[in-house]
Amino acid sequence: MSQVTIIGAGIVGLSHAWMAARCGHSVTVHERNANAQGATIRNFGMVWPIGQTPGEALAIAQTSRSLWLEFAKESGLWMNPCGSIHLAHRTDELEVLREFAEVGPPLGYEVKLLNPSQTLAKAPGANPNGLLGGLWSETECGVNPRFAVATLARWLNAKFGVHIHFSSRVTSVESGDKGPLVTLDNGQVIESDCVVVATGSDFRDLFPSQFTNSGVKSCKLQMLATKAQPDAWRIGPHLASGLTLRHYDNFRICDSIKPLCQRIAAESPELDKFGIHVMASQTEDGRVILGDSHEYGSDITPFDKEIIDDLILDELRKVIFLPNWQIAERWHGIYAKYPGGFAFESQPLPGVHVSTGTGGSGMTMSMGIADRFWKTHTI
Ligand SMILES: Cc1cc2nc3c(=O)[nH]c(=O)nc-3n(C[C@H](O)[C@H](O)[C@H](O)COP(=O)(O)OP(=O)(O)OC[C@H]3O[C@@H](n4cnc5c(N)ncnc54)[C@H](O)[C@@H]3O)c2cc1C
Repeated sequence: MSQVTIIGAGIVGLSHAWMAARCGHSVTVHERNANAQGATIRNFGMVWPIGQTPGEALAIAQTSRSLWLEFAKESGLWMNPCGSIHLAHRTDELEVLREFAEVGPPLGYEVKLLNPSQTLAKAPGANPNGLLGGLWSETECGVNPRFAVATLARWLNAKFGVHIHFSSRVTSVESGDKGPLVTLDNGQVIESDCVVVATGSDFRDLFPSQFTNSGVKSCKLQMLATKAQPDAWRIGPHLASGLTLRHYDNFRICDSIKPLCQRIAAESPELDKFGIHVMASQTEDGRVILGDSHEYGSDITPFDKEIIDDLILDELRKVIFLPNWQIAERWHGIYAKYPGGFAFESQPLPGVHVSTGTGGSGMTMSMGIADRFWKTHTI
């Protein structure tokens, strides 16, 4: 049995912990905080295969989805196989949806174009004013990001005996005579056969020069959540707007995406400036999670911008309907984005595997990425 040490208890670290444990390895996770507080608990909780490009990325997202469903079933985690609808309120948005509904299915996307009344029948949260149609997709699911990763940690410990040490910061990773050595903030040095570095946007702390050369960038997103909606009202599937069509790479297979991007750039440059597109998901307690914006590199400050929240809410009100728009919480999250693909993976030292850079798709991709790694990696 090999010893595997994982650094970081976000979704990437715990996905690796699951897959390594499933291969029969002895797995220990070190997380610097008392519980995970990074991108993994700050997101929409959307498992979003439709956003991936056709081929390898979509296949990994589909594997991830199956793994999420398996974990939810075994652990009792609330998981909502709600699907998603991209809403069209402008003719150029409808054109992209129409094109994607034609070219997407042969590439593996389970999508169908809906007319306005079909859209409203599935999605009480769609704004009927000016609604032209929607793109229904079967495959998206929702989890509550506040609880999902904590449940995963407990389940991994109970089912596989994975040791998860919270409030345990790793200060360095070096090569030793027999394998990589991990030093903790209490001075303890751990010998392992394999180390997985899953420290999200903080990957630079342990491997500064590898970070600089990797091209991985940090990205800050502002988010909001409403109070619980009254009378157990539900939005239906996850909802995304026409603005979202220019955000996820899957829609680049459509020729009609170009004029849409040009129109938005000319009409509302402030949306491009702050990388705003809008989406909504709903947790089991009735809150609706709303977002988001994208600021990169030196544009990132600790201070959230009111103008961004206002733009997000203005755009959301155009496309979705909610009985209660009262905002209960505002926050931001930071993720690591690898411009060269859906994840950044490297081996800075023998036996040390870095897994980060999942960008806006870490909840969707991590389990599949870890599954692929541990199926092909021998220690
Ligand atoms: C606002 C927002 C919305 C998003 N929405 C979605 C979505 O709906 N669907 C989707 O698929 N993706 C979404 N994403 C992306 C997704 O959340 C991320 O890709 C994913 O959570 C990254 O996971 P991670 O484990 O790499 O990082 P993190 O969750 O940040 O975890 C890294 C962990 O490493 C720990 N750590 C760091 N350094 C050390 C150290 N030295 N020692 C010990 N521990 C350390 C940190 O404390 C942290 O807990 C969203 C992201 C954000 C920010």
